[in-house]
Amino acid sequence: MSELTRLYKEIELCQNCILSQGRTHAVPGEGPEDADIMFIGEGPGFHEDRQGRPFVGAAGNYLNELLEKINLRRQDVYITNVVKCRPPGNRDPQPEEIEACRAYLDTQIDLIRPRLIITLGRFSMQRYFPGASISRIHGQPKRVGNVIYYPMFHPAAALHQPRWRSLLEEDMLKIPDLLAKLDELEETEPEITQAEQLSLF
Ligand code: URA
Repeated sequence: MSELTRLYKEIELCQNCILSQGRTHAVPGEGPEDADIMFIGEGPGFHEDRQGRPFVGAAGNYLNELLEKINLRRQDVYITNVVKCRPPGNRDPQPEEIEACRAYLDTQIDLIRPRLIITLGRFSMQRYFPGASISRIHGQPKRVGNVIYYPMFHPAAALHQPRWRSLLEEDMLKIPDLLAKLDELEETEPEITQAEQLSLF
């Protein structure tokens, strides 16, 4: 059993916060264990809770469509959330719930070691861009060591707000260039350390 599978089993039994009490299934995340790209959403909704899989409802269908626009298939990327159990009535996750799940997400990142971490919506953005406003910083990559953090609007929000929808689509179309830049950086600066924080563009 891989370490990631072991982590999934732990998440499925987790009772670290109140969200565990209302869940049908925990939703740890899914995708290749060595994915280059990791998407981090907010938390499971109704369909995700039923199926135990992330982004399988309307927002998920839209995410799949967005991926197709840049010739990626869903099975090529890793998808997870800041909280692994559904907040009741799809309310916002509370700070203590995000905190209770923090170590799970950290471990997922340590095991998968993605090169590009894409935050969807403000809850996952806040983790890497504390205090920032998503309307200001969406689509602006931040490089830390050899990882790029890239904030985007949440697909569910964009589905309801045509202006955000076009911004989300524009930001998505920039992803292939980001990956190409990472390839270049790795060729020219193989020794860069995690401690070094540079803005990319
Ligand atoms: N919205 C999210 O943030 N995550 C999901 O898994 C589904 C919808």
